[in-house]
Amino acid sequence: MPKKRKSGGKTGSRKGSYTNVQCSKCGRMVPRSKAKAVTRRTSLVDGRMYAELKKTGTIIQSPSSKKYYCISCSVHMGNVSQRAKAERK
Ligand SMILES: [Zn+2]
Repeated sequence: MPKKRKSGGKTGSRKGSYTNVQCSKCGRMVPRSKAKAVTRRTSLVDGRMYAELKKTGTIIQSPSSKKYYCISCSVHMGNVSQRAKAERK
C-alpha cells in the first residue's frame, strides 16, 4: 500500500494533523512532515577574516540555522531528486 508519509502521520502530538511551516524560499505554507528541513551553519565573519582569526587562535562560534523548504523548492535547489515514475506509487 502506498504511504504518503513514513510515519503515517502519527509522530505529531496533534492527532494526525501537522503544524504548517513556511518555506524559506517561496513562502508557501507546507505541513511540517512534508517540508524538507535543512540545517546550515552560518558564519558571522567573512571568509578572509575567518582565516586570519583562526590563525591567531580565536574561537569563532558559528550558529546553525534551520530552514524549511517546500518540495518544489528543494527539487529546484537539488536537495532532493524526483523519483522515477514507476517508483512513485
Ligand atoms: Zn518553496
